[in-house]
Order: sequence, then structure tokens, then C-alpha cells
Amino acid sequence: MIETRARIIDGKASAQLVRARVRERCDALKQRGVTPGLVVVLVGEDPASQVYVKNKDKAATEAGFAVRTLRRPATISQGELLALVRELNGDPSVHGILVQLPLPKGLDSDAIVRALDPAKDVDGLHPENVAALAMGAPGLVPCTPAGCIELCDQLGAKLAGKRVVVIGRSMLVGKPFALLALARDATVTICHSKTADLPAVCREADVLVAAVGRPEMVKADWIRPGAIVLDVGINRLADGRLVGDVDFAGASAVAGAITPVPGGVGPMTIAMLMANTLTAAARRSGHLDLAYGR
Ligand code: NDP
Repeated sequence: MIETRARIIDGKASAQLVRARVRERCDALKQRGVTPGLVVVLVGEDPASQVYVKNKDKAATEAGFAVRTLRRPATISQGELLALVRELNGDPSVHGILVQLPLPKGLDSDAIVRALDPAKDVDGLHPENVAALAMGAPGLVPCTPAGCIELCDQLGAKLAGKRVVVIGRSMLVGKPFALLALARDATVTICHSKTADLPAVCREADVLVAAVGRPEMVKADWIRPGAIVLDVGINRLADGRLVGDVDFAGASAVAGAITPVPGGVGPMTIAMLMANTLTAAARRSGHLDLAYGR
């Protein structure tokens, strides 16, 4: 039996806190005559996407937003989907548009994301938002890495001057997290499948973020004692168990704080989607004081 030393980070509680703040600000926006509007577009019948969309719809309703889920068949053409995006871009009651990814085969998700009004791109994936993040300009930030930063904030962990190592360089998680940490004056290393001696690089980290998609890859001896470990990975094992990219049992005997899977980073993703939608509505309506913040 391994003795647990790390503080287990309660992502559900942190997400609830974010969602409560969003709800409060949504109420204040409504009092000023603005109801944040979110439209989720679901194309096809992918079972995982259906669950995600249902959860997003529920969270948005609880936040007090006007939310609509638009379902379209997998047979929709690229042109029809582009036309829908343009229509939503032009609808003043819609502040946030989320096209659930991945799209069915035959649809070009890059082109769809590029067609979004960047100010309504609550997933933060439009090239203008990517550029804004790289330049340190205001934009909308992808929800999962924003959630990781929020967890650090809630832990009271200051990133300035710290060594941050992120494993994974996707546009969805690894790269944006690295840029967010850099903007907080961390010294950042981005690792990937070609990184030499990954365990040694990880051992330098005060904050280690794993966003790989490989079950329990990060072992206890990759972790500097006392480090903060944020496990983004979601992996379903053959026996049905859900595990992260970090060997939780081993790592929690070494780390200072660690997120479990499930119940760590996962709940933050939806919470930050709500925060982005609130921010998009606050900016569009000129009520900048009600954008998400602490
Ligand atoms: P991608 O598959 O897009 O990226 C994975 C990254 O991991 C790549 O950069 C890849 O390197 C790197 N990698 C793969 N194998 C290794 C290895 N052996 N050593 C080091 N690096 C490696 O995944 P995502 O970023 O989209 O997602 C990562 C994980 O996070 C997944 O499990 C996903 O399910 C989960 N996720 C969870 C979310 C949440 O809400 N909690 C939200 C989004 C994702 P290279 O670039 O060289 O190929």
C-alpha cells in the first residue's frame, strides 16, 4: 500500500466555484439587459459527442445563459454547415458558438473553425484567438488549458519563475497551456513524442502537465518531490476503468498536489467554456467589468 502524500486537487469543487462566479456575473449582465447566448452545433451521432453536448447544454442552462443545441445529420454538406455558422455569426443574440469536434468524415473542421466569428469562438481555436494568445493580446483561450491555469490559481500556486513542463504539443491543450504559463512568467518546456529522456526533463518541473493520451505513462520517479501534477489525459482501459496519463497511485506519493482522473482537469473544461461564453457576451455588450475574472 503506497502512502499518499500529495494534496488531491478537487476539480469538481474548483469547477463549481468557477460556475458560481459565472452565474453571478450572468445575473448582473441580465440586470443590464444582456442575456449571454450560447449555441452548440452537434453534427452526426457520435456517442461521446452527444454526452459532451448534453453536459454543456446543462451547464449553460444552470449558468443562466440562453442555450440552444442545433443538431444536424452527418450528411450535412460543408456548404450547409458554413452557411449555418455564418447565420450564427450574424445573430446578435448569440455570443458564443461551439461546433462540437470531431466532425464526421468528409467535413473540413479547420475551414469551419476559420469561418467562426473569432469573438464568438468560445473554444478558442480560431487562428485569430491562437495569435492573440501567442501575442499576449485579449482573445478567447481554449477551455482545458485555461482550466489548468485556473486550478493553479485556486491552489495559490504562483507560476512566475517556476519550471513548468508540459507533455504534449496539441493546439487544444499542450501549446496553449505552454503559452498561458509563459504569460505568467514561468520557464516553460514543451515535450512531445520525440523528446529525448522525457523522465529527466519531467523531473525538472515544479509544475508538470500531462496531455498525451497514454494511460499512466508518467511514473512516480519522473516527478520532482512536491511538484504540482496536472493530468489532462482521459484514457479508457480494456477493463472499463478511466485513467489519466499519470500513474496516480505512484505519483501521489511523490507530488505535492495532483489531479485525479476523473474529477480533476475534466470538470474544469466545461466550467471554462461557461467562463468564455460569459466573457464573449460581456465584451460584445461593452460590459467589460463582467467578463470572467477573479
Ligand atoms: P493529441 O493526440 O492531439 O496530442 C498528444 C500529444 O502527446 C502530442 O503532442 C504527442 O507528440 C504527445 N505524445 C504522444 N506520445 C508521446 C510519448 N510517448 N511521449 C511524449 N509525448 C507523446 O492529444 P490532445 O492534446 O488532444 O489530448 C491529450 C489527452 O488529453 C488525451 O487523453 C485527451 O483525451 C485528453 N483531453 C482531455 C480533456 C479534458 O477535458 N480533460 C480535453 C482535451 C483532451 P507529437 O506531437 O510528437 O505526436
